[in-house]
Amino acid sequence: MHIALKKPKQLVVGLTGGIGSGKTAVSGRLHDWGATVIDTDEIAHSLTKANGLAMPDIRKAFGEEAVLPDGSMNRDHMRALVFKEPDKRIALEKILHPKIRQLVQLKLNAGAPLYFVLVVPLLFEKEGWGELMDEIIVVDCPVEQQIQRVIQRNGWPEAQVRAVIQNQATREKRLAGATKVIENNGDLAELVKKIDFMHQTLIKKA
Ligand code: ATP
Repeated sequence: MHIALKKPKQLVVGLTGGIGSGKTAVSGRLHDWGATVIDTDEIAHSLTKANGLAMPDIRKAFGEEAVLPDGSMNRDHMRALVFKEPDKRIALEKILHPKIRQLVQLKLNAGAPLYFVLVVPLLFEKEGWGELMDEIIVVDCPVEQQIQRVIQRNGWPEAQVRAVIQNQATREKRLAGATKVIENNGDLAELVKKIDFMHQTLIKKA
């Protein structure tokens, strides 16, 4: 059970999409326009960096092999582990989620000059986020395009990208939950135009 988060008075725009769909590209541009971006993936990353706030609990729960020599989480090891053993995923989430939610609340409490963009990659897979959001933007593109982008960006084998996509909500499920969609199936110049238009729509609501 999650502790409910308190909605701020400013507009909260949720941002989600499958792996490699372009969420970071969208949130980065909205940030450039002055939106206050809260990225739950970035928070998770900072909790698990060298000497991150979650590292003592991670070391205790998963042992030394979960920690790299520099003190950060061994991401490759943990990614493989939680894929193989679902109870390990639950254990890791039990450590990270309350801390992520606490930090999101702090950032929401600090307010925003325009509007919040709350990036939750697994919005439709996890409970407890949608209630906070006035709008939900889904960044969408065909699966084959996601795969190409992630191969290019991460250098992962195709099967690894497909396995991640398999474990995420389907495109149809995400689109069904969206209040706004950014189709990111063209080049970056096209994406930028769509984001700028979206920003104009959002500031009218904010
Ligand atoms: P993840 O879920 O893995 O964090 P994401 O949804 O944040 O991914 P991005 O990192 O924004 O996705 O985009 C994935 C990769 O594809 C990046 O390298 C990005 O530069 C590239 N990319 C995104 N959109 C486009 C586009 N329209 N044209 C070309 N490259 C793109």
